[in-house]
Amino acid sequence: MYQSSTIINHIANFTSQRNTELLAFSLLKSVNSMISCLSTRIITVNKKGDIRAHIFFENSHYTVNDSSIEVESALRRSFEHMHDSSLATLTVKTKTGYSVIHLLHHDRKSEQFLIINLEEKMAKESDYILSGLLSIYSNFIKLLNESQTDELTGLANRKTFDSAISNIFNTRPQEYKKVERDRRIQESHKYWLVMVDIDDFKHVNDRFGHLYGDEILIHLAQIIRSNFRNEDLQFRFGGEEFVILLSADNQMECMQILERFRRNVEEYQFPNLDTVTVSIGVVELKKETFHITSIDYADQALYKSKKSGKNQITFFENMLSQGIAKKSDIQGGSVDFF
Ligand code: GH3
Ligand code: MG
Ligand code: MG
Repeated sequence: MYQSSTIINHIANFTSQRNTELLAFSLLKSVNSMISCLSTRIITVNKKGDIRAHIFFENSHYTVNDSSIEVESALRRSFEHMHDSSLATLTVKTKTGYSVIHLLHHDRKSEQFLIINLEEKMAKESDYILSGLLSIYSNFIKLLNESQTDELTGLANRKTFDSAISNIFNTRPQEYKKVERDRRIQESHKYWLVMVDIDDFKHVNDRFGHLYGDEILIHLAQIIRSNFRNEDLQFRFGGEEFVILLSADNQMECMQILERFRRNVEEYQFPNLDTVTVSIGVVELKKETFHITSIDYADQALYKSKKSGKNQITFFENMLSQGIAKKSDIQGGSVDFF
């Protein structure tokens, strides 16, 4: 029988996490230490059936893939079967023993599964402990997601922005430094901080009222969702300001994506209004720059778009090369606050 103090320690550990990825790590570790198993993994599948994230844990070692991995077709079929039959758990026979699959969490965007690979069928006692642990995890992740989501638009809220940037640059707590990340993603992509602000939104509110203004915000969030990939993280930053962390190989590609988005907003048929437009400011995200400095750069670029007539895109890099902006003296990055 497990020491109840051990179980409580595990629960205390994972309910102290405020980041869904670290929470998943913590769950894998707890399951591994409480149940004798070969390996565990967590797989997130989006509504189209694409794998969004994959965390594998074996011999105290984590491997993380953010996207585009293939899983065994038998496993995929199990996910589909669980989805179609509304099953929360399923045990399947594998070449090496058994896999126990649990639906950990689902929302309108994705489903997250825990897979435990075992040599033998799971013992009754382990099963009992596991289901308790998973109920706590599921309640906790619901709370966490709620606290990280903007109620009106369903996008991520500003509170989650810092940890999202830290995740991009893989600056995890020491305990998880050993994680291997999909290197291809790390090396070939640049990330861009894109700040979007609705033009003359006060007029919309003044003409049609605040509730109607809110409706426009919901429409715009929908346009953002359909224009950017899920991997491009999307936030409602404040009132009528949105931020996207976009990955694109170079400035030209980034510009093309944003130009298409700008045009789609301009051409969208909002109820009662001829046109709604947005102004955009962009800066490349650098690991060595403080988040707050990057936000300030994107904000300066956005301000330039507004001053030059609105409904346009400005890159901070172009302002630098034109000599109309300069970099902050405080670059940051190497300073450890904690
Ligand atoms: P600009 O083109 O310079 O951005 O003009 P603007 O009118 O959009 O100016 P500004 O950004 O200063 O004002 C934003 C307005 O957005 C002010 C406020 O009335 C409105 N707003 C902010 N948050 C909300 C919200 O949650 N709902 C609604 N309906 N309106 C909001
Ligand atoms: Mg504004
Ligand atoms: Mg505005």
